[in-house]
Amino acid sequence: MTSSDRPSIACLCVALATILPSVALAEAPQGQPHVHGRATLSLVIEEMSLTIEFAAPLHDLAGFEHAARTTEDKAALGRLRQKLEKPQAIVSLPTGAGCTTRSVMIEGISAETHAHDHGDAKHHEGDDDGHADVIATYTLSCSALHSLSEVNVAVQSTFPAISTVDVAVLGPGAQFARKLTGTNTLLRLR
Ligand SMILES: [Zn+2]
Repeated sequence: MTSSDRPSIACLCVALATILPSVALAEAPQGQPHVHGRATLSLVIEEMSLTIEFAAPLHDLAGFEHAARTTEDKAALGRLRQKLEKPQAIVSLPTGAGCTTRSVMIEGISAETHAHDHGDAKHHEGDDDGHADVIATYTLSCSALHSLSEVNVAVQSTFPAISTVDVAVLGPGAQFARKLTGTNTLLRLR
């Protein structure tokens, strides 16, 4: 990890993929279909900060995966964005950890423009295989991360279409990958 204040997503992915080769963080690279019902979540725990990255098929979050065409589609994407703006939609952190949200970045939701990159138009258009991913990245400042012994993953309750979450945790005392399915949502960190 560099000393930069806010590591890039690519940087996190590379670090995690190196440490946790079994985690399919890059399971669905651009242009390849993802698996509906399956999301990935990574938690990077540093001394005073927590970075959460959540990636899921747009289909599982919004109920459709095509570009927003109708007013209803656009409203659904607006609601989804609102939901994702709170990290509590993804993980429920104990108040004792003293976390405050510093930044939220949401990619893959656009109510105004086409959902797919036009460079991939041939691949995505004209068939029913068009896929779109949503990636939400949260950076939190936390005053007492050492007290964080577990987090409850809220993904499945916020988005019931997601049944499996592939989790990767990277922290000073914990580096592991875990698959959370069904009602199993508690992630023990130590
Ligand atoms: Zn899809």
